[in-house]
Amino acid sequence: MQNYLEETLLICFSFLIVHSVFLGWHKAQLQTKHSHRRQKVLVVANRLPTKPKRDADGNWTFERCSGGLVSCLAGIRAKFDMVWLGWPGADFNDVEKDIVANEAMKQGCYPVFLRQNLIDEYYNGFANNVLWPLFHYIMPPFDKGVNECSTGQWEAYRKANEIFTEAILSVYEDDDYVWIHDYHLMLVPKFLREAKPDCNIGWFLHTPFPSAEIYRTLPWRQEIIESLLHANLLGFHVYDYLRHFLSSCVQLTSLEISAHSVDATSIGGCIVTCATVPIGISPDEFLTGLQKPEVKQQIEQLHEQYAGRKVILGIDRLDYMKGIPHKLMSFGRFLENHPDWADKCVLVQLAVPSRRDVPEYQRLQRQVHELVGQISGKHSSIATGVPVIYMDSSMSPDDLSALYNVADVALITSLRDGMNLVSYEYIACQHGKTVPGVLILSEFAGAAQSLGAGSIRVNPWHLQDTAHAIYEALMMGSEEREALHDYAFKYVSEHTAQKWAETFLQCLQEACSDLMEVTSQVPPLLPYEEFLSDWSESVQRLIIIDLLECLAPARERMNLHSRGRPKFIRLPPGLWQCLKTIASSPGTSVIITSDRDRQTLAAVTEDLPVYLAPEGCCIMRRPGETEEWIHLVEDSDVEGREEWMDGVNAVFNYFAERTPGSYIEKQEYMYRWSWDNAQFDFGSAQAREVLIHLWAGPLVNSEAEVVVGDRAITVRPHACSRGACLEKLLSNELNGLQQVDFALCFAVVSHRDEDVFETVEVLRPAFFEESMASDFGYASAGDGDATASLATGLMSLCSSPRSSADGRAGSSVLQTPTGPAPEVQPGEEPPPYDWVPTAQREREEQQRQEKA
Ligand code: UDP
Repeated sequence: MQNYLEETLLICFSFLIVHSVFLGWHKAQLQTKHSHRRQKVLVVANRLPTKPKRDADGNWTFERCSGGLVSCLAGIRAKFDMVWLGWPGADFNDVEKDIVANEAMKQGCYPVFLRQNLIDEYYNGFANNVLWPLFHYIMPPFDKGVNECSTGQWEAYRKANEIFTEAILSVYEDDDYVWIHDYHLMLVPKFLREAKPDCNIGWFLHTPFPSAEIYRTLPWRQEIIESLLHANLLGFHVYDYLRHFLSSCVQLTSLEISAHSVDATSIGGCIVTCATVPIGISPDEFLTGLQKPEVKQQIEQLHEQYAGRKVILGIDRLDYMKGIPHKLMSFGRFLENHPDWADKCVLVQLAVPSRRDVPEYQRLQRQVHELVGQISGKHSSIATGVPVIYMDSSMSPDDLSALYNVADVALITSLRDGMNLVSYEYIACQHGKTVPGVLILSEFAGAAQSLGAGSIRVNPWHLQDTAHAIYEALMMGSEEREALHDYAFKYVSEHTAQKWAETFLQCLQEACSDLMEVTSQVPPLLPYEEFLSDWSESVQRLIIIDLLECLAPARERMNLHSRGRPKFIRLPPGLWQCLKTIASSPGTSVIITSDRDRQTLAAVTEDLPVYLAPEGCCIMRRPGETEEWIHLVEDSDVEGREEWMDGVNAVFNYFAERTPGSYIEKQEYMYRWSWDNAQFDFGSAQAREVLIHLWAGPLVNSEAEVVVGDRAITVRPHACSRGACLEKLLSNELNGLQQVDFALCFAVVSHRDEDVFETVEVLRPAFFEESMASDFGYASAGDGDATASLATGLMSLCSSPRSSADGRAGSSVLQTPTGPAPEVQPGEEPPPYDWVPTAQREREEQQRQEKA
């Protein structure tokens, strides 16, 4: 019987803590390994930074691309080994694949082979026709909508993401960092996490993340957002994109979200860190480029060519997001407002062709050509020629640098732009000029947040305003130009591409070690063997366990609508039987407490032979009884409560009506307003209002207290505190604990009720003193989620030799061994004693040293 009981106990308590123990164990193993090996970064982007070329003999060669991500990542090679994974840019047959793979690997690349039809559907289809427009605030046209074609493209997207994940797994080694890029690969984090639960995953978005109102229209919004939440770090260019992402999480999930993180552990994800890491350029490359003789010569030629005229420069991909028609119309408006400028300035617009086969882009090109024609027709002259020089082409970096250098004004009118590097490049190439040029920058480009104060910011939709900005830029005095330029150049030269990559990887390392921190805060492993020996040596035992978060999850996290609702609370299978066995063993009293109502607790526990103390312990029922509830609050202590209860009821009703997803619970002694299912930000704002109304109204001079809990506000008489009620229960039923020699309490309670843990101390000071002398463990719980609260919610009154004597509320005091974590092979059980991961041990050591 004893063995059976021990086994049952073990199962029961293992259930409560085993998850966190495993996590702690594994992370510590990881940490040990980190110190031995140079880590690798796997850069995963849609395209490899190589251009495959076939020579006359049919052999493939790979030309390494420069610029873009490649130069961003140059700096991190000093710290990490790097492998780049991506599509090699062509469809290869099976024979060619081996050759291609060998060639690519020589350049640190690992090709991810995709068939052309998959590329069409996944890349051109879902990524560029559905996601890209949506992320730039363009909804699918109503007539086409998101139709079956998009559904097929979604399947292709999923397939391609799976293929990328398999490729990652074939080069991945433990501890590597995987850095996934952009909207093409948003399903990879989840696939990867499922295959490698401890993988260090970062993802960076190079486009805007749209407002939640736009993102929510995407039929596959849930799969995508949940997949991203399997990464450790999500990076965005600017805070607005991060904010939009978080607000999409608020609206689409029921996860705990703070200003810079999302707790996605309940959906198998991580504590996800969200960070803004704005990308930059390598200004030195441009500055060095400008020193080349051929570039200098080119600059001379351009000066001669445009002598006497100011050059206004536009460099854009021919994309509807770049606002080229808006730019042309504004320029036209400027010339109409100031006709004298027609022969004194020229707009040089380069429109790099993009996605020529897509009808929308062909339409855009026609529109742009028409506008150029109209302006030229209206404002050209024989003497000076056309006011707009428009080119449907791209340029070499050298030609581009020369143009950047010569231009007096750069005009960027993006309607939506993740960052816009052209504005950075322009600033870099203006450096060193006696009179630097002026940047006119759309406020809808991410760059506006960094270079805004060094430019004239415009709303490109306001043509008149933009026209005026052109005039202002042309007329600007040298002092102001210099001031603007100095500000912008300082930013561009400090926030370089290399810095961006380093910062992202540093954030990723921190995010991954934060995970270690978080997991290390879970309770130290209960010392099973000693715990069981204490149990068997004791005669009178007391176990107090709270219902929600300790026995039953309070949150059906994946189901917004059922979170915390009484009718959905269930004991996990098997646990009920464990509790029955423990509660039936001789000399053992089990008390199940809850702030839920009596019917709920009775229904959940069925006929378990335990004390029930629902409604915040204000009432109780003895084991085996089915009807009689005993009041633990004296009537005299709660006299006159009707006065404030009516007022509280009115306030709660007012807000419940105006806060969708909130509801009221009424018990004999208290009212609770919960906003579990309300939108988080709205619910918090409403909760603040509720408090103001309560304090200013019904609670003035009342004998009531307010308990602010996790998405709930409770109002109850002072006399109904948990500590006071529990004290009465223990005194009445267990003779004030005089005989108890083993006690254990698990609870997740609001801060107000943390004194429940002190109740035993108050009741049995003699016992407490003895225990203090012979090592006594003590910890308290506050509000929080299941794991975190269990972390602090353990009060172990067992006289464990491993427990220390000086613990007080809020700190775990189970002493931890000082040696290294024991060797455990993957798949093995965790060690049979209490150690905690290094991070916590180090913190404890530091605290000890500080004290000393
Ligand atoms: N660019 C180029 N050749 C050209 C025109 C532009 O290589 O003929 C480069 C330019 O130097 C810049 C990039 O294309 O680095 C454009 O980046 P941006 O962020 O401004 O816009 P995106 O096209 O990425 O939306």
